[in-house]
Amino acid sequence: MKLLDNKVALITGGSRGIGAAIALKFAQEGAHVAFTYMSSEDKAKAVEAELQALGIKAKAYRSDASSYQDAEALIESVLADFGQLDAVVNNAGITRDTLMLRMTEEQWDEVMTTNLKSVFNLTKHALRPMMKKRAGSIINISSIIGLMGNAGQANYAASKAGTFGFTKSIAKEMGSRNIRCNAVAPGFIETDMTHELDEKTKEAYLSGIPLKRLGKAEEVADLCVFLASDRSTYISGQVISVCGGLSD
Ligand code: NAP
Repeated sequence: MKLLDNKVALITGGSRGIGAAIALKFAQEGAHVAFTYMSSEDKAKAVEAELQALGIKAKAYRSDASSYQDAEALIESVLADFGQLDAVVNNAGITRDTLMLRMTEEQWDEVMTTNLKSVFNLTKHALRPMMKKRAGSIINISSIIGLMGNAGQANYAASKAGTFGFTKSIAKEMGSRNIRCNAVAPGFIETDMTHELDEKTKEAYLSGIPLKRLGKAEEVADLCVFLASDRSTYISGQVISVCGGLSD
């Protein structure tokens, strides 16, 4: 018996990076996996094929996490295709880094809608089937930047800090229905998102990480497997960092 046998999970932004690692680990643990992408169609199809080769049901959906309508249609499609929904991982996220004096309204709005409104969109529509089943696990991929702040990332930090309050509120609202909600706060993880950072910033981060290395997407995925599984049935409303000791 694997940790996620017979469970259906939906992961936003599963075409690359942390989301793709979560999709793969979930499938390896026996879950059927629905996941979304935005523009990387070829990568999404490759991930879909990799998951299906593990013998579980997997499907990629093009769906904009920042769109309320897309989220509603997505949940309907996943229920029609998979018949149930046990876990949602709100992973889709972007950065539009720049100092506050240069930040445009568009850069603020893009980050807030993709990183925070998306969490509302997906949670809102996933709750109904979870309430019916009287079970569910919602996992919000946040960031230690939401805890620590960072120069040049006021929009990103605000969006990620917003997920903490959202997570704790949903845990309180939905606990009586046996629906759990937790936030995962990764530190500095090797993905396309961090490849964009310049060497000086990377070195500055590295010097402050007690484990003296960047994290791997798989190390974030391992915590998500645990939180989606029945090994974490009494854990809700928590923010758990995966950051090599960087945040307090
Ligand atoms: P990434 O490599 O840039 O991948 C981002 C993923 O999100 C891609 O699959 C992308 O789809 C998808 N996406 C972007 N906008 C979307 C939208 N509007 N609707 C649906 N999907 C969308 O990023 P990552 O590093 O894996 O980060 C994943 C999550 O972890 C993010 O929430 C990020 O903030 C968080 N995080 C990352 C780090 C880190 O160090 N990497 C640290 C802390 C937190 P396409 O491929 O189709 O564009």
